[in-house]
Amino acid sequence: MPASSEPATLRAGWNFDNSYSRLPDTFHTRVNPTPVAKPGLVLFNGPLAHSLGLDPAAFTGLDAAVFLTGNEILPGAEPIAQAYAGHQYGNFTRLGDGRAILLGEQCTPSGDRFDIQLKGAGPTPYSRRGDGRAALGPMLREYLISEAMHALGIPTTRSLAVATTGEPVFREQTLPGAVLTRVAASHIRVGTFEYFAAIGDTGALRVLADHTLRRHFPYRAESEHPALALLEEGIKRQASLLAHWMRVGFVHGVMNTDNMALCGETIDYGPCAFVDDYDPAAVFSSIDRHGRYAFGQQPPIAAWNLARLAEALLPLLHPEPDTAVACANELLASFQESFQHHWLTAMRGKLGLFTAETDDASLFEELLRAMHQTRADYTHTFRNLRPHATLEPTSPPHAEFTAWHLRWTARLARQPQPSAEVLRLMSAHNPAVIPRNHEVEAALTAATGLDLAPLQRLLAALASPYDEAGQPTALLNPPPAGTPTCSTFCGT
Ligand code: AMP
Ligand code: MG
Repeated sequence: MPASSEPATLRAGWNFDNSYSRLPDTFHTRVNPTPVAKPGLVLFNGPLAHSLGLDPAAFTGLDAAVFLTGNEILPGAEPIAQAYAGHQYGNFTRLGDGRAILLGEQCTPSGDRFDIQLKGAGPTPYSRRGDGRAALGPMLREYLISEAMHALGIPTTRSLAVATTGEPVFREQTLPGAVLTRVAASHIRVGTFEYFAAIGDTGALRVLADHTLRRHFPYRAESEHPALALLEEGIKRQASLLAHWMRVGFVHGVMNTDNMALCGETIDYGPCAFVDDYDPAAVFSSIDRHGRYAFGQQPPIAAWNLARLAEALLPLLHPEPDTAVACANELLASFQESFQHHWLTAMRGKLGLFTAETDDASLFEELLRAMHQTRADYTHTFRNLRPHATLEPTSPPHAEFTAWHLRWTARLARQPQPSAEVLRLMSAHNPAVIPRNHEVEAALTAATGLDLAPLQRLLAALASPYDEAGQPTALLNPPPAGTPTCSTFCGT
């Protein structure tokens, strides 16, 4: 066929390598996406395409959705479903990609490598009782929140496209089906290591550890103790990630070990949400009945997940089991220290502090306590703190806030930076707009009724979350009084 009559999407600039599919057969199963009835492109991420070395103009025709639903396979792709396991709500289970198919790794002009995965692409040998499919609402939700996280400066998988399938999916209701094209540094999870540990395949574990180290931590690839280096770097990335989540009020909602990626990106946007009023006990997932994954529980849960990673790596850490456990424990203890460091840095940024004082942690705790007591909005309170004005988060003014404000003002006076610089630092750490739950729900409801305008407006606003200028007033404010607390569902 002459090049000119080929679908444009084929010539977009695909440059696949398939390093994961070259790993031994125990790592994956070769499986193609199941074709869908009527592919239709709903959202496409032009800037992300460009950064992947793909020409966005190649995705404007009708053929784009044919490739982005998996009806046709992109050139150079070797579709696989990845094997993994995981602790879900504390219980170990063998899983694997039950509805996601990895097409391959796009190698970009700048030398980076990204997994291109179709989520909702049909059943695989790991589907268990699932249908392998995804509904449009949750895939639009993942697109919206992951792109918002990226704009907030938080490591995350990204979303290249959402395409409808023209087929219904059957959940509690019948819903339109869709496929999300997910882009990730990789999909290697804590649960991937747990899988090989569980089947007792130490050889595969070593292959996976080496692969992961080379892929995500190449600067440690020549390490004398690769498994130790991997665990150490994995811990550091999670500590930094968790501090980011806490900085912006993000609640992941389902921090099972299969949803924690070694690369340190936020992954799997299911029942996630952002807190409105500050509450460490905030839970939005309807199935998280005991608050295992509540907002304030996230750092200790990350540490728990990392302990599962360390456990899986034990045979590689040291041939002597007691020594291996001692190594693991020593590294695991560094999570808390590393998290505390990132958290203090983030909070200093939020409060405009350029210097460090030993009492800073208690300054933050005192503010959070006052916010909790007064049910103050997390985002709005931080964004509207003004060094020299009085506070406005509660009316009538709350005594605890007033006392705290005096303390903060005195603290600011002990550093040389002028208020303009203080405000600049604060504006870079305190978003003006976040994906508020009620706005997200409204935009998704409209979008599933095929009115995409509210979703497009929300996406545009969330692309520059630290800028107030030009943002819709409704997004700059907490939800109106009486807005019901949204709960999101895992059955996506
Ligand atoms: P998640 O809760 O999305 O992290 O998924 C947990 C596990 O369930 C993963 O192994 C998924 O592949 C699998 N899964 C979720 N939804 C489906 C579905 N509709 N069909 C098959 N497998 C699914
Ligand atoms: Mg998952």
